[in-house]
Amino acid sequence: MNNNYQSMWKNLGLDLNAHDALLQVLGKGYQDIFLAQNNRPEGMSYFDFVMSEVHGLRIKELMDEKDQGRKIVGSYCVFVPEELVLAANATLVGLCSGADFVMEEVEKLLPRNTCALIKSSFGFKLGKVCPYLESADMIVGENTCDGKKKAYETLNTLVKNLYVMDLPQVKSEQGKSLLKAEYDRFKNAMEKLTGVSITAESLKQAIQIVNAKRSAIHRLSALRKANPVPISGLDALLANQVFFYDNPARFTESVNKICDELEKRIEEKQGVFPENTPRILLSGCPMAVPNWKLPWIIETSGAVIVGEESCVGERGTRNLTDESGQTMDEMMKSIVNRYFKVDCAIFSPNPDRLNHISEMVETYKADGVIHYSLQFCQPYLMESIPVETALENKNIPVLRIETDYSMEDVGQLKTRVEAFVEQLT
Ligand code: SF4
Ligand code: SF4
Repeated sequence: MNNNYQSMWKNLGLDLNAHDALLQVLGKGYQDIFLAQNNRPEGMSYFDFVMSEVHGLRIKELMDEKDQGRKIVGSYCVFVPEELVLAANATLVGLCSGADFVMEEVEKLLPRNTCALIKSSFGFKLGKVCPYLESADMIVGENTCDGKKKAYETLNTLVKNLYVMDLPQVKSEQGKSLLKAEYDRFKNAMEKLTGVSITAESLKQAIQIVNAKRSAIHRLSALRKANPVPISGLDALLANQVFFYDNPARFTESVNKICDELEKRIEEKQGVFPENTPRILLSGCPMAVPNWKLPWIIETSGAVIVGEESCVGERGTRNLTDESGQTMDEMMKSIVNRYFKVDCAIFSPNPDRLNHISEMVETYKADGVIHYSLQFCQPYLMESIPVETALENKNIPVLRIETDYSMEDVGQLKTRVEAFVEQLT
């Protein structure tokens, strides 16, 4: 990565040595996992570029936006409505939390048996290695699982700009009212942060921008129904990961370009893997950058991933916000309606998720489901059992995996995944 960025990183307060080490690991991982793939669509070169500049050019762009008075908002969850951030003339970025960092320091503040995602969010802060976190004018946490909820109390002592959003856990009218009240409060917080009043016009435009980005991802997902599959699950996951921090209009354009190419590939029956390669639906916890371990294991074990039932995937992107509203009230209602459908495992009961997994199996013609939970993640671990039962009742093969961000279990996971894939052929 360009040495010219050193002073920018230094100004952001990063630990340059630790940050260099992180970039080296990231670069090597990317090389070994993504660039080592065969038959990639040419359009993926855009994502290769984005990844090579993930801490460089994109951060420089954010710094330029900040110089022009625009605020940056960091988020850990798909419940933070990008529409309201954009409408207040701010930029939303995902805070990835996909790798272990300074774990000894983290475990002084959090119990050892905390999920890797939460630990990682602390590691990136304590290790001073995340330019997104450091450039954010506001960091939005949310009361979802108990781990996150309590961890934010401690994170609040490490950062000065944490905003905590309360979220419902029951899909009831009261739950929806809570979400509405929280989104109203968030709208006010955005206006206060930016000094910009959200108008019906700016909100409408923001809804259209975010919907366009989601529609591009929907188009990409639909192309994965083809046999042979025109894009690997790893590359599709990467597009879903970049969704969280790229400029929305540029992202939409780039994904649509890839889709044009994929349509041609489908016509020519050109796949990344041979026709009839076993097809896997991956379901479970979000997979933040650079958590590519399991998808890489699956796609080097004779299978292809055809969909992600995940917040970094279809759970996060699947519904559009209704664009027909004209008044602020109508549009706020549409936003609440859209996000209230997100079927995170923190909801109880959560039948929509079970139905959606089965639906995805059918839509993407998956031969089996791999359910992935992070160790110590109660909501997804608990829910993996009813998911397995529901799928087995429909004779859909399921493999339940519980793992973390370390590489220690790669051999063991590979053996299990290979045996599962074998059973699908
Ligand atoms: S899994 Fe739940 S808590 Fe996590 S990002 Fe998704 S909606 Fe948010
Ligand atoms: S829902 Fe699970 S993976 Fe997400 S933060 Fe909570 S414990 Fe971690």
